[in-house]
Amino acid sequence: MPCTPARARLLLKQNKAAVFRGFPFTLILREAHPKAVVQPLRVKIDPGSRTSGLAVVNDTTGEVVWAAELTHRGEQVHQALTKRREVRRERRSRHTRYRRPRWRNRRRPAGWLPPSLESRIQNVETWVARLSRWCPLGAISYEAARFDTQALQNPEIEGTEYQHGALAGYELKEYLLLKWGHKCAYCKRTGIPLQVEHIVPKMRGGSHRVGNLTLACEKCNQKKGNQTAHEFGFPHIQAQAQAPLKDAAAANNTRWALYERLKRTVLPI
Ligand SMILES: [Zn+2]
Repeated sequence: MPCTPARARLLLKQNKAAVFRGFPFTLILREAHPKAVVQPLRVKIDPGSRTSGLAVVNDTTGEVVWAAELTHRGEQVHQALTKRREVRRERRSRHTRYRRPRWRNRRRPAGWLPPSLESRIQNVETWVARLSRWCPLGAISYEAARFDTQALQNPEIEGTEYQHGALAGYELKEYLLLKWGHKCAYCKRTGIPLQVEHIVPKMRGGSHRVGNLTLACEKCNQKKGNQTAHEFGFPHIQAQAQAPLKDAAAANNTRWALYERLKRTVLPI
């Protein structure tokens, strides 16, 4: 349990504890106290693409016991791998001895992530594991992604059920709001109720996929009726709908993958 520096000094002076670690300064008690009460601690994580925020909070008092900012090496990992790839490419043009192709490593396993993203996830995983060694962690709080872009970009990955389940609900609306800037795609008005609208209407063979969806106010939606966006006089909307949110996808995919990893720990999330 976290304690004050004065108490730590006293425990060391009386030889009741020993230094376990220099940073963060951690003591280990020589003997377990029979009546020791351990207050539950919670680690809070805010995963980001460049830095991730970590905080250990005392659940009973709400006090922040320890906090840190973890800087990720995403860009460095990317550069190092690019360099390696260049070296390997160069080798092919050199006149060296024959070497049998070693292609057994060519297949990407399920759930594979680019190494730069993987490194971010492992950094956070490592710190959660460390913290649970140093203090009695009871739970994890985690800032989850607002939508699963991986699923949104490939709506077929879990069959039609997924389309009518998660896709039809909160995540889809959230995604569309971000993509279309919280306004009606046709009259550009904001601050009004928006409806999910099919760019090519269902009756004309339009699909339920995200690439065919936009947001419109009720007026525009009714005025458009059974026309496609092109016929309605908005051909650019059809093109804009096809472009996925790449940046958000990268950040969110990491968050979802991290969530899946953290679920493997015994702690409740
Ligand atoms: Zn409108």
